[in-house]
Amino acid sequence: MTEKVHFVGAGPGAPDLITYRAKKYIDDADVIIYAGSLVNPAVLADAKKDAKIYNSAEMDLEEVLNVMIPAAKAGKKVVRVHTGDPSIYGAIREQMDRLDKAGVPYDDTPGVSSFCASAAAINKEFTLPGISQTVIITRMAGRTPMPSKEDLFGLAKHQASMCIFLSVSYMNELCHTLREAGYPMDTPVAVVYKASWPDQQIIVGNLTSMPELVKAAGITKTAMTMVGGFLGNKYELSKLYDPHFTTMYRQGKE
Ligand code: SAH
Repeated sequence: MTEKVHFVGAGPGAPDLITYRAKKYIDDADVIIYAGSLVNPAVLADAKKDAKIYNSAEMDLEEVLNVMIPAAKAGKKVVRVHTGDPSIYGAIREQMDRLDKAGVPYDDTPGVSSFCASAAAINKEFTLPGISQTVIITRMAGRTPMPSKEDLFGLAKHQASMCIFLSVSYMNELCHTLREAGYPMDTPVAVVYKASWPDQQIIVGNLTSMPELVKAAGITKTAMTMVGGFLGNKYELSKLYDPHFTTMYRQGKE
């Protein structure tokens, strides 16, 4: 009988930042296809000895499907491992649509996205009261284009907390665009390279200093760029824990 294919998020790198569910699927798998450019191979450490393991970094879409579909149809347990959370720049939709066509069922197990791991690395909250209550996840146009309505300049006008994926090598242009869009020159910027990996690096600066800082550190990939007032020290206390604020669970003090 055809087995369900499990898409799973491997988390940002540290092997103990994977969910129990994803780990169980990996450890029980007969066939594992993992995104080897970013997934830490340590998350596969407890895979079955005879599991067939493929690195999708060296495969195109057809090659991935040509492994997945026949294996699932032969009743093998297939797990497709994506970095962070599969729903963010995971290119899972095109795989899922082809599985639908082939009549192979599947499900998706979320993971800790690198934008969450990067905020955790610097102990920051994206949604600081009085500063920003919105998080924008985006990237810059590089070798693959961006929809024109979502260019960085347009998104910048909100001055929300921003997480810019896949773009650390365009830091000059990134900071320039945000300054042109009206962000003050000294808006804080943090870059986290390989969040949660042993060689994690944290660089803190602003929209003026960051291009030089990143260049000096030699960081060209696998880094999260975060921008916004949430990286600063001004904010309001939350209403949720305000002693005078009544919630469903707690009566505010007079
Ligand atoms: N699905 C992944 C993102 C894949 S796109 C997720 O949810 O995190 C790849 C980009 O993610 C990288 O270019 C980088 O911007 C970011 N990234 C992935 N792992 C990272 C890590 N450990 N630390 C910082 N950024 C990371």
